Amino acid sequence: MGKVSKGVNCSVVGCKTSAERSISKEKFGSGGLSVSGEKRVFLCHEHYKQWKKTTKKERDLDRARFR
Ligand SMILES: [Zn+2]
Repeated sequence: MGKVSKGVNCSVVGCKTSAERSISKEKFGSGGLSVSGEKRVFLCHEHYKQWKKTTKKERDLDRARFR
């Protein structure tokens, strides 16, 4: 995960906000968002928050399964 230089837009389809974070597509996984891009996904502030929330939810579900 890294900072993004200015001028890169969010990879989420339909979003035109400039990106703040980049994540490898592998790590992004099933973030629940439609994104463009081959290897890296660029996310704006809002979508990064949204993605983190989604992945946290998935982690919580995984944990619940082990109970
Ligand atoms: Zn966005």
